[in-house]
Amino acid sequence: MKPEILCRVYDLLLDELGPQNWWPAETAFEVVVGAVLTQQTKWANVEKAIDGLKEHDLLEVQALAKADVALLEELVRCCGFYRQKASRLKEIAMFFAEHGMDKVFSMHIEQIRSTMLSLKGIGNETADSIVLYAANKPKFVIDAYTTRMMKCIGIQGNYMQLQGMFEKELPTDVDIYKEYHALIVEYSKAYCGRNRCSECILTGIE
Ligand code: SF4
Repeated sequence: MKPEILCRVYDLLLDELGPQNWWPAETAFEVVVGAVLTQQTKWANVEKAIDGLKEHDLLEVQALAKADVALLEELVRCCGFYRQKASRLKEIAMFFAEHGMDKVFSMHIEQIRSTMLSLKGIGNETADSIVLYAANKPKFVIDAYTTRMMKCIGIQGNYMQLQGMFEKELPTDVDIYKEYHALIVEYSKAYCGRNRCSECILTGIE
């Protein structure tokens, strides 16, 4: 891997798109809910479900922990896999209701990560999104967009390998990790997903 290539990619993306200031949520719990709902669906669907949960005053730990499952299923139906997602959300809310979200998020970063991973339906990407954007701790999120972009510039690896590369090269900084992931997603949506490779700003990066 070329020295500081990931820092140069960050600079290029930031110059191209400007700051994204993610995650689009009002509270840490909203981040958690969004991170679960966004699995295998578009963000527009997540926004719709979040709006519905807000309208029913369910975007709060205690309320969601006690929510009627049928209502939850209806509210998250637009996100697909609605039965699993409704039951996962309820279980996560029950977990936070029992253990306290602030208490969980005050644990060591790797403890938060492993705790999230121990919950049903939470894999690496969702766990790291929660660690970074809800717990506000420096853990780099890898997703399919990141994997594809890295492959385009000659960097390959599994989830943990790619995460290790980013965390090794970048300063350990929550804001940079947040911004970088957001830039990758937004760039990928605007370019990679629209067959705009001929205009790609990363072409030939060394
Ligand atoms: S625009 Fe094309 S070349 Fe550039 S990162 Fe996306 S997929 Fe790769």
